[in-house]
Amino acid sequence: MTLRDALDRTLLLMRDEVHDTVTDDELIAALTGLRVALVADAANIASHSAQTAFVTAAMLMARSGHHVHLICPPAALVGQQPPLGRGDLVEELARAGADLLPGYSFATGAPVGEVDIAITLGNSEISVRAARLIRLNARPWSGHLGDQTASNMWDGGLWPLGGMAAAGLAAAEAFKTSMRTLAHAARNPARMETVFAPATNVVFALAPEGTPFVRQLGTFDCISGGAIINAILYALARVPGVEGRARVIEPDTTDTSNLNRYMLLQRSRLKDDKAHDLATILTGCGLAIEPVPKRYEPAQLPSLLPLAASVLVGVDDIPTRWLVQRAGPDWLGVGATTHWSALASFHADGLGCAQCLHPTDDPGNAPIPTVAFVSFWAGLLTASYFLRHRASQTIPASEQQIYLTALRPEHPSWSAVPRRRGCPSCAALRAPVLDKSAQRSPHTRAGGAVFLAARFPVCPAGTD
Ligand SMILES: [Zn+2]
Repeated sequence: MTLRDALDRTLLLMRDEVHDTVTDDELIAALTGLRVALVADAANIASHSAQTAFVTAAMLMARSGHHVHLICPPAALVGQQPPLGRGDLVEELARAGADLLPGYSFATGAPVGEVDIAITLGNSEISVRAARLIRLNARPWSGHLGDQTASNMWDGGLWPLGGMAAAGLAAAEAFKTSMRTLAHAARNPARMETVFAPATNVVFALAPEGTPFVRQLGTFDCISGGAIINAILYALARVPGVEGRARVIEPDTTDTSNLNRYMLLQRSRLKDDKAHDLATILTGCGLAIEPVPKRYEPAQLPSLLPLAASVLVGVDDIPTRWLVQRAGPDWLGVGATTHWSALASFHADGLGCAQCLHPTDDPGNAPIPTVAFVSFWAGLLTASYFLRHRASQTIPASEQQIYLTALRPEHPSWSAVPRRRGCPSCAALRAPVLDKSAQRSPHTRAGGAVFLAARFPVCPAGTD
């Protein structure tokens, strides 16, 4: 197992932007050569929000191989931060960091000389010389990326969602700094100059401030145990006092090439099955995970249905999203990525369904280019929709989906999902033979046959 194996999918994504003559070693050098100082002082690291931002930024940058100095005084973790244990923030981060990419570790001392980028929380004092200084801040539901002129104390408090958004903003800035060292080999120099330019003074709102906090998540199902479900569960596990029960329906085992983006995965646990691994790492976190090591596909439906009323989907395979939609969950959240962009949507009665949103399949078995901060954004955005749903907030239909190119967080695109005429999944959901008892009792012989025949008249292909 090598660093190159672990960064395989990240390198694939970088190759979108650079000529084929660039070697893997050059790409890896661009990632590992980036020197970052992540800085917080005692006053600014005290809250759960700030600690979540610090941990998340550190882990996202570590999964992209950046050389990160953790500069923070001793601070007891005030909330749970899986895959970290309880204890001191920097000690636990250092332990977790040594169990990520092969050969990787955080630096816990001050850097010698100038770093490429210093990322500081709130108005923490900084004694490091840096080519660029970023100051992060947060409100409960929004993350803030500022420059050296930002001067406010960390403002996130207890609720950690905004802190995670701040971390996502910071990790993208670090990654762009790495990419700009490859500008000489850019396929499109103008794109490199614009898309990969620094972002400054960004406020990214996951939800309106004032959105209620919620900790009772009830019962829900997760379809897949991959990168996006990892990010969703990573975010939900940080909700103070969270309680919930979830099935994770996923047949595969973890692989070295997952380390670049699976937020809860550690190298020492590779080759476990993904569903059991999530159950293990989240033990004691308030989220009771029931691993279901099966593929969500037509042949398995009799043993998997009924789904919970709320379902979170993180599969790349588009027909699988249709298959979940046709099972008729009351509320469905879908997270996805494509190259540098993260997508999230939710689907409920009266709104466009998952097939209205993605009506055509995009088959292919080639390895998918992905990077830590994009997968994380997809999960964070989906988790935010879910928390708003659980808080009984009415989300405007005009915000039913979000498309975020994570490199340019100034311009998220929120929009409706129009219902499509002739959508097969919408038609299946209206099938007249269906009644609620059949939907909720598909295991009974009669109910199951009626339900399956009504909802899945033509079963799509299996999942990826
Ligand atoms: Zn539809």
